[in-house]
Amino acid sequence: MSRILIIEDEEAIADLEKDYLELSGFEVKISNKGDEGLQTAMSQEFDLIVLDLMLPGMDGFEICKRIREEKNIPIIMVSAKKDDIDKIRGLGLGADDYMTKPFSPSELVARVKAHLARYDRLVGSNQKNNDIIEIRGIRIDKTARRVMVDGVEKAFTGKEFDLLTFLAEHPNHVYTKEELFREIWDMDSIGDIATVTVHIKKIREKIEYDSAKPQYIETIWGVGYRFKV
Ligand code: CA
Repeated sequence: MSRILIIEDEEAIADLEKDYLELSGFEVKISNKGDEGLQTAMSQEFDLIVLDLMLPGMDGFEICKRIREEKNIPIIMVSAKKDDIDKIRGLGLGADDYMTKPFSPSELVARVKAHLARYDRLVGSNQKNNDIIEIRGIRIDKTARRVMVDGVEKAFTGKEFDLLTFLAEHPNHVYTKEELFREIWDMDSIGDIATVTVHIKKIREKIEYDSAKPQYIETIWGVGYRFKV
């Protein structure tokens, strides 16, 4: 049974969400405060988190960021204001979905199911075969070191392949250029973190429909990059 954590200070809303999710067979826990919610999210195992934005104790922005540093589970953020949703998107905190209140509980249930199914496919396929990574239209064969994008093979240099694979293996985790440089290049190698930027650009040209609007490798301004799932 999948476990869902709802972090929501409006008890009536939290209870309604819980009722609907439980009717669909989920196990649900509610936290009505931000800081407590974060602690619960970090200390227990959940399959998905429904996270309100405005909360006492700690706001949803900070909670989302902190959870994402540790966990890849789906996060659905909810807010009463449409403007906030745009802000959340812009910040690139790693939420998987956004809903504006008020929404129908059945819409929430539908989205929860969709995100859990997607996450299961991702994690499940990794467990079945550690050498193949499949994320949306991209298929990385680690053994053969081949990459297919929508069924078409693309040629990657060694470091491009290593960098793409590393990011794809840690979906939604934001890495700084320094971290990526340390991870992919030898400490002694000639070059600097600008090398990372150049390689990201080349990878995007091969995997993205539009390099200017990347759907896979996102730039998190002032921080680094993440492979978005
Ligand atoms: Ca609230």
